[in-house]
Amino acid sequence: MDDCLFCKIVNGDIPSTKVFEDTFVLAFRDIAPQAPSHILVIPKKHIGSVAEIDTDNSYVIAHIFEVIPAIAEAEGLTGGYRVVSNCGSDAGQTVNHLHFHILGGKALSLEMA
Ligand code: 5GP
Ligand code: ZN
Repeated sequence: MDDCLFCKIVNGDIPSTKVFEDTFVLAFRDIAPQAPSHILVIPKKHIGSVAEIDTDNSYVIAHIFEVIPAIAEAEGLTGGYRVVSNCGSDAGQTVNHLHFHILGGKALSLEMA
């Protein structure tokens, strides 16, 4: 996707602070952190949002959830963390490339909306 911000980060056209990378997944620090640790985990292959997960690409999603615990452990999030994915405009999705926020490093508010 030529005009996708996170595809540009995957390609290295836009710099990011990487915390994890493998064949399928990239994780990097959010540019505007909402918690002491705020990491975005994305598939390298473009998927628009949770709404585009299907049987062809769900192996990548499974893999994302396999690497999230390792990322959280490396980040020292021993007290726990939140994993969030905003899907669509009502949820406040601002970048249309599927991403999972990992938020932690403090006691998070329980407010969800
Ligand atoms: P959303 O609002 O779509 O759930 O989350 C998008 C996230 O991407 C936001 O938390 C925002 O701060 C982050 N973000 C937007 N542009 C950039 C960027 O250029 N670099 C990084 N590292 N994060 C970004
Ligand atoms: Zn993309």
